[in-house]
Amino acid sequence: MDSTPTTAWRLVSHHGFAEVKQQITNGQNALFTLRGWQPGEVIADFSAGSISSEPTYLTVQVGEDKHITLQPEFLQYINHSCEPNVFFDTTRMQLVALKEISTGSELAFFYPSSEWEMTQSFQCYCGKAGCLGEIRGAAFLSNEAVTRYRFTDFIQSCLAKKADKKVA
Ligand SMILES: [Zn+2]
Repeated sequence: MDSTPTTAWRLVSHHGFAEVKQQITNGQNALFTLRGWQPGEVIADFSAGSISSEPTYLTVQVGEDKHITLQPEFLQYINHSCEPNVFFDTTRMQLVALKEISTGSELAFFYPSSEWEMTQSFQCYCGKAGCLGEIRGAAFLSNEAVTRYRFTDFIQSCLAKKADKKVA
């Protein structure tokens, strides 16, 4: 079943449980699951393709000055949403389902769940009720927004430090 009948997609590549599709109108790639997932289920194990001290739009932050490219590479096509359905657990190095995900859904994660300060901020148009608008990284989230999301252990430690500073 196609949940987005108004959007035309072109198949780019197939990867076992998922496929990369490109939105014809704007050239944007996205990753869609070919099977359903239960909350907490591990969708894929990943590893660091490369490690660098500077983030790019393709990297995932795993520590202070430590940013990795994803292996398998097709995971880089998981886009941002303010209502994510997956989470990159950078401690266990696993992509996990945050909620029940039905076959054919686009997989999306919350960029600030792993990114403290993004090099390229962007305006989100996910259209969800809780859309945060400008996405700049976890460092810039309101206290209220912080309560709504799951964060990596690294980002949680950053948030704790930031909270300590405010009290002091
Ligand atoms: Zn949004």
